[in-house]
Amino acid sequence: MKTAILGGGLSGLTLARLLHEKGNEVVILEAEPEAGGLCRSKTDRGFTFDTGGSHIIFSRDAEVLAFMRRMISDNEQRNNRTTKIFYKDLFVKYPFENGLSDLPPDDRFACINGFVQNLIAVEKGKISPPENFREWIYYTFGKGIAECYMVPYNEKIWKYPTDHMSLHWVDGRIPRPPVEDIIKSAIGISTEGYTHQSVFSYPLEGGIEALIHAIAAPIKKHIRTGFRVTSIRRSGSGWKISNGEDVIEADRCICTMPLQHLLPCLGNVPPAVNDAAAALKYNSLACVNIGIRGAVPDFSWVYVPDPAAGMANRISFPSHYSRRVAPPGCSAVLAEITHQPDDEVAAMSDDELIREVTKMLMDMQILTKDQVISSSVERQPFAYVVYDLDYLKNIATVKEYCEGSGIPLVGRFAQFEYLNMDGCIRSVMDFVASHP
Ligand SMILES: Cc1cc2nc3c(=O)[nH]c(=O)nc-3n(C[C@H](O)[C@H](O)[C@H](O)COP(=O)(O)OP(=O)(O)OC[C@H]3O[C@@H](n4cnc5c(N)ncnc54)[C@H](O)[C@@H]3O)c2cc1C
Repeated sequence: MKTAILGGGLSGLTLARLLHEKGNEVVILEAEPEAGGLCRSKTDRGFTFDTGGSHIIFSRDAEVLAFMRRMISDNEQRNNRTTKIFYKDLFVKYPFENGLSDLPPDDRFACINGFVQNLIAVEKGKISPPENFREWIYYTFGKGIAECYMVPYNEKIWKYPTDHMSLHWVDGRIPRPPVEDIIKSAIGISTEGYTHQSVFSYPLEGGIEALIHAIAAPIKKHIRTGFRVTSIRRSGSGWKISNGEDVIEADRCICTMPLQHLLPCLGNVPPAVNDAAAALKYNSLACVNIGIRGAVPDFSWVYVPDPAAGMANRISFPSHYSRRVAPPGCSAVLAEITHQPDDEVAAMSDDELIREVTKMLMDMQILTKDQVISSSVERQPFAYVVYDLDYLKNIATVKEYCEGSGIPLVGRFAQFEYLNMDGCIRSVMDFVASHP
């Protein structure tokens, strides 16, 4: 059986490898000159940056985590997470609810009081169950934590109003803090949240793309880069897939590229399906990569909820993930700015973005201008799926059509779900286990 895999990101490559191990003939069709998708990295002047935003390897899924760690094997640096939230010029411990004792006293009071008052109101049935993400935040954390951190940060990263977002995805992804932890954290007894991520791995050499290279090693010769799929047609019991010049024939066709790129390749898609796909929301990403002489604060990464503090929603320090991604005596700083696909950030030049972010980092006292050695910008059109209130209806329409057409969907923007690397690999493993 010959399988054509559309898209050569982490999902496409992992799928190809596992199918190849099962004896399938595979061909991976990737539009870009290099495979890897969001998991690519670039090295310039001794600094290695992940081009799809800063990545770390972690998972609650023991099998998937073991797979990723086995892939990078001894090219691994293990790290303890030291993550902060930049709040009113303070670096507050992350998750926010575990860092309450770092807050100014008035805010600490507002957060614990809001949490307790809310808990009592919920217990007495005085608050109706939440119907959107914003209501869920208030219902779960209370007014103080909601307004100091959860609402501003989420609106900054999603670039979407939280009261227009669905809440179907939050369970398991945003844990509900136990009341004991809130009280301990407010009075200064150390607690940890998101513990499945408190220790994480990162490739020692090569950035996150080292994971991609390791996965792709046995199937390298089956990857066809620079092949932007533009047409997919049934041919007998198989498929003909074209980039407008060449045609690839296969018995099976699996999509790991974004749905928004798949649908135009299919002929005669019903208008209702196209409308549903057009209504699906996602955001884009600009990464500003800065290499500096000297040290940076001893943090893994910092979330920045306040728009007034600067455009970036997150600042990462990859040279703390691996000691080899910056030259000796130097540090790497990666600022992520999510934005809507066609907004004013998309229109900004690289120089403008670098200027904005450098000023932001100087204001945060992370660096001084004379430390900067290198700077560059990377952009990703598809960064995060945004779960708006119509998401479940629209995605059901699109998935039903694609899968009914005989094209399985696997991966972050093919399934159109908020899947991290582990979620993508889990989808691939489950697919391979349930298909010949
Ligand atoms: C800012 C950010 C930070 C992240 N951090 C982490 C993290 O720390 N840990 C973690 O586990 N996960 C993280 N992730 C998630 C992770 O990047 C994704 O889960 C994973 O990379 C998705 O892989 P994929 O192959 O499904 O999709 P993609 O990487 O998007 O791959 C899709 C591929 O399809 C190709 N393609 C598109 N159109 C066509 C076409 N017409 N023809 C052929 N090919 C096409 C694209 O070029 C691309 O290579 C992060 C994501 C972002 C945005």
